[in-house]
Amino acid sequence: MVLPHITEEYFCNFCHQSLKMIDVDRTWTCPKCKNYILIRIITDNKNNACTRVFAKDLKEDEYILMDRNDDFRRIIRIIDLGDIIQLNIEGYGAWKVKKQKYILKLEGRWYY
Ligand SMILES: [Zn+2]
Repeated sequence: MVLPHITEEYFCNFCHQSLKMIDVDRTWTCPKCKNYILIRIITDNKNNACTRVFAKDLKEDEYILMDRNDDFRRIIRIIDLGDIIQLNIEGYGAWKVKKQKYILKLEGRWYY
């Protein structure tokens, strides 16, 4: 279960439609087209579009947010450990998470 931040906004870039939290907060996908929805992540110096994806769907060289107050960090390497996945994170080190854990992945700037 993920507790979304109150400032988050949701948008489907395939349907070109804003969505309400109640429509997306179970799977973080669009109820209509089933693609991952874009999530607006605003902090002091950030205004970015992210998706919330399963850890198992992450790829090397993608940027993730481990904590809302942290900066986006690059995944250097991914090691499959069965039910768990080890993400080697630049400037952090090894981070072991469940494959079904939702992780905020950077998609780009928010301009929707
Ligand atoms: Zn959609």
